Amino acid sequence: MKGFTTRNVHSDRQSTIEHGSVHKPIHTSVAYGYESTRELAAVFQGKQAGHTYSRQINPTVEALEDKITTMEDGLRTVCFSTGMAAIGTTFFSLLRAGDHVISSAFLFGNTNSLFNSFATHGIEVSFVDATNAQEVQAAIRPNTRMVFVETIANPRTQVTALAEIGELCDEHGLIYFVDNTMTSPFLFQAASVKASLVINSLTKYIGGHGNALGGSVTEMGHFDWGKYDHIYDDYRSGNEQMWGLTQIKKKGLRDFGAALSAEPAHHLSVGSETLALRLERQCQNAQALADYLDGHGQVDKVYYPGLQDHPQYQRSRDLFRYPGAILSFELNHDVDLWAYMDRLKVVIKSTNLGDNRTLAIPVAHSIYYEMGPERRASMGIDDSLIRISVGIEDTSDLIDDFANAFAD
Ligand SMILES: *Cc1c(COP(=O)(O)O)cnc(C)c1O
Repeated sequence: MKGFTTRNVHSDRQSTIEHGSVHKPIHTSVAYGYESTRELAAVFQGKQAGHTYSRQINPTVEALEDKITTMEDGLRTVCFSTGMAAIGTTFFSLLRAGDHVISSAFLFGNTNSLFNSFATHGIEVSFVDATNAQEVQAAIRPNTRMVFVETIANPRTQVTALAEIGELCDEHGLIYFVDNTMTSPFLFQAASVKASLVINSLTKYIGGHGNALGGSVTEMGHFDWGKYDHIYDDYRSGNEQMWGLTQIKKKGLRDFGAALSAEPAHHLSVGSETLALRLERQCQNAQALADYLDGHGQVDKVYYPGLQDHPQYQRSRDLFRYPGAILSFELNHDVDLWAYMDRLKVVIKSTNLGDNRTLAIPVAHSIYYEMGPERRASMGIDDSLIRISVGIEDTSDLIDDFANAFAD
């Protein structure tokens, strides 16, 4: 099999090549017309392949879906307008009132907020420390349907017990829903831990340039949907492995309508072609920066799975190609957080992850502010914690920027 990047950049030309086009063209048409009325009906009835309406299917979006399926080594992918839409729609499509879900307690803030909303609709979510598979096991109930985890948690960089939880889900027939955003398929192949479904926020590393929003869900072919009693009769036909994703697409994407449009799909496709090149550089920069900060007298703690004293250092080495490009650190309490951050000149003070530019944010005062001090404390988020999404800048420029901010 060819390498990661070769497969990605040539995937556009696996299907129809319009006018010999090297990139998949941007198809902005919302609807598709047919010469014969019978053909139109056959497409609607699923008896003939074809396009009907771009909320459900669009050639430019399909080309991106094929790229993601290739990168994840899955069976098929459905794209959404954002990563949150991908998670929310999947929950809505597969779960019903009375169901129980086990989730990692160390979660992207908006996912945490979404799960709390599901509780008001009768879907209960238990939050556990997913770095320890025994905590997940202890939370399983007769009505548990799904386990949701992120690969590396943000901002404290805890690494989930991905392989052990995969075994548990396999044993108990639970949907294993893995958020691969922080690692992307270049650093982590979720197929290796028996994931059922993989979600990516394409906004982050896969797109990589901070210029388009998108999300995806990939069916990995591991879960037995034939035994899952929440699949509607309409979708219980054909290949059983695809029943779950079909329901996500037909009940979730079509009915809710959080569809990805052709222009952002094109940006994300082009961005994805350099995923391996960018991340390799970003991970090298992150390791260099973590090593630098770790030895600095005005820094209290550095959280990065590539540091040997990180609690999941060995697990990260076993699971991931590199330990990621997100790190966070706590300044000594006598260093003024606001003044320090304002002295950074290359690094941009901004939210988002996975951009080519290095971004820094004081998390307790921004993305985790709404959560309140108690939940922050339970997640180990100190007031002085700064999260860095490391970009592709030259390593020495980055280290100089952090060093100069201390020196002043
Ligand atoms: C950003 C992010 C999301 C949500 O993605 P959007 O595209 O911003 O909606 C979900 N999970 C993780 C881990 C993220 O970092």
